[in-house]
Amino acid sequence: MTSPNLLTNVSMDAAGQEMYQFIQELYPICRSITGSGLRDTLKRISDRITLEVHEVPSGTQVFDWTVPREWNIRDAYVKDQNGHRVIDFKQCNLHVVNYSVPVKATMTLADLRPYLHSLPDYPDWIPYRTSYYQERWGFCLTQRQLDQLKEGTYEVCIDSTLENGSLTYGECVIRGQEQSEVLISCHVCHPSLCNDNLSGIVLSAWLASYLSGIDLRYSYRFLFLPGTIGSITWLSRNEDRVNRVKHGLVVACVGDSGKLTYKKSRRSDAEIDRAALHVLKHSGDPYAVLEFSPYGYDERQYCSPGFNLAVGSLTRTPNHAFPEYHTSGDDLDFVRPEFLSDSLTKYLRIIDILENNRCYVNLSPKCEPQLGKRGLYRSEGGKIDQHCRELAMLWALNLSDGSHTLLDIADRSGIQFSVIRDAAAALAAHGLLKEIAYSSKGLV
Ligand SMILES: [Zn+2]
Repeated sequence: MTSPNLLTNVSMDAAGQEMYQFIQELYPICRSITGSGLRDTLKRISDRITLEVHEVPSGTQVFDWTVPREWNIRDAYVKDQNGHRVIDFKQCNLHVVNYSVPVKATMTLADLRPYLHSLPDYPDWIPYRTSYYQERWGFCLTQRQLDQLKEGTYEVCIDSTLENGSLTYGECVIRGQEQSEVLISCHVCHPSLCNDNLSGIVLSAWLASYLSGIDLRYSYRFLFLPGTIGSITWLSRNEDRVNRVKHGLVVACVGDSGKLTYKKSRRSDAEIDRAALHVLKHSGDPYAVLEFSPYGYDERQYCSPGFNLAVGSLTRTPNHAFPEYHTSGDDLDFVRPEFLSDSLTKYLRIIDILENNRCYVNLSPKCEPQLGKRGLYRSEGGKIDQHCRELAMLWALNLSDGSHTLLDIADRSGIQFSVIRDAAAALAAHGLLKEIAYSSKGLV
């Protein structure tokens, strides 16, 4: 059997616009690894897809980590002697060090300075800073703002709470014919940052919504998690089910103008790695491939040695490789609908390969079967792609010996997967190929 071609009937332009509009909606929310901003974000995602929202109490032990206390913030500011807010959380939520403990004080500029963070090299951007696991407070501001602060006393207020509560994450499961799962994971814990965080959220939500209307081979599990502690928590609570995950991708930084970058899973030659590389290689666009490293997003946890899941990460410019990363420069202008749409196209093509990667045996393996008499060879002259289609059939016949999948054949022949898939389907329809059982762990 074959699954439908996932890219037909999709308007990629409209998808790019929809994803961008969702970024605009989510942008103002002050998210963190716990708290109401995270819940509000999950609520808005659940307006679009069926999302199960989980609450895990503070203090819960998850492997070597502990679910932290819940952080919420209402307001924060630094006021000058005239009562003017010179730093104002309500203007931009990046102005407060995320997870700052409450503070109410009056202090001189000299005393305040150690709590102020800026970027001298990028004087117009506000840095994004966090302090989840050490009780601290602080403000972030542009270097220009900092330079304008005059000596004197300032009123400092962070109206936040850090209390027992819970860690929240969202899970959307789409059932396919098989129990085996494809895991799609993104982090949902950054405040007003578009590429790092929001682009991954909106692409994941779009994919989940789209796939929920399709007959699928695999089951799909979408996770919307606070980074690091969220994936650790999910793995800790789902240890007995993790072996269902056959393929996975961590989605982040998919809205900037940079080229696509695939970071391989720890296994490095898993089917997901090969599918992603195949798509990028045949895209005609520039791309980069990175070997696995235990740094980055939640693939660090999925690929920890105790799990070693086949999870890679497809981004555009990777984190840390763009100066806007973790600054207010990662804003609504830094991401564009056309780049979101281009990233989505690549995700759909990868999923299309996973869904359609099959294994066949040649039922007429002694010499080539005569394709012409079956109308499969040179039946319609003049078509430019006819030669490629015929070549694809010859490759499919030759390598369908029970030990090569369609992706193996596509890679070895250098022909695009979709052409090999269509050739195999035509040969199977004429009784020349027969599908045999195949699993992502190898032939069965
Ligand atoms: Zn980040």
